[in-house]
Amino acid sequence: MAAGGWIARHVVRDLPPSYVAAYAQFHHGPILVANVAVHNWKAFAKLGIAAAHWFDGFGFFVNLRQPMKIDGAPVPFDPSKPAMLTFYVGFPQSGVPIDRQTSGARGVLFGTSYVDFEMQIRRQLQQMLGSAGFDAKRDIAGIVFNRWGHAYIAPQPGFYFGTPGNQAPLEVVRERYGRISFGHSELSGRQSWGRAAQESRRALKQVLEVI
Ligand SMILES: Cc1cc2nc3c(=O)[nH]c(=O)nc-3n(C[C@H](O)[C@H](O)[C@H](O)COP(=O)(O)OP(=O)(O)OC[C@H]3O[C@@H](n4cnc5c(N)ncnc54)[C@H](O)[C@@H]3O)c2cc1C
Repeated sequence: MAAGGWIARHVVRDLPPSYVAAYAQFHHGPILVANVAVHNWKAFAKLGIAAAHWFDGFGFFVNLRQPMKIDGAPVPFDPSKPAMLTFYVGFPQSGVPIDRQTSGARGVLFGTSYVDFEMQIRRQLQQMLGSAGFDAKRDIAGIVFNRWGHAYIAPQPGFYFGTPGNQAPLEVVRERYGRISFGHSELSGRQSWGRAAQESRRALKQVLEVI
């Protein structure tokens, strides 16, 4: 089973209770990825920054992307030229239990219209960069949103090493169940390509034991 755990746990319908209990401890936070095309990035250059991090407002960081390199088409890293900005936006709610927090955040992610997210991004950029000459109306060329429902596993205490008398949930799910092995990225506690490859290699070896 190479699909993410939030899918795999439903596809394998006869999972034993120990796996069901272990999967119930996998919580995934969502992320809105916003790519904002700007006609220029002079305001960043004026401030002497290529990225910004903030602790209130919409999102928490933005960074300027290095222009894509294409053979034979040099793209100078020049503040007066167009560029892409990337925002990763989570929707944390401090103090709310982890399961309600992650599902509530998904509700916000999928329940918010494009135009509402667009206005929030525009306001955030205007507030941060306006004094350096940025004008959202003039300088933003386009915005693309990707709504990523299960972006990052959010491991709680006990996730990696278990609790007294209880195996870690990722150790439970990593065990082969009959002819089925689970080999998706968050079984390492992180969602990344390298971890996905590592877990799939382990799962494949387990399956080869019984084929
Ligand atoms: C926007 C974005 C940016 C990322 N950036 C990075 C990065 O910079 N660096 C990095 O290392 N990682 C990054 N990742 C994470 C990385 O891509 C994933 O963690 C990794 O690809 C997950 O691999 P996987 O094999 O576990 O699952 P996936 O690659 O999601 O594969 C699961 C497969 O299962 C299929 N599937 C689902 N349901 C079923 C079903 N019912 N029946 C049959 N097939 C099904 C899906 O179609 C999919 O092909 C990013 C991910 C996203 C979405």
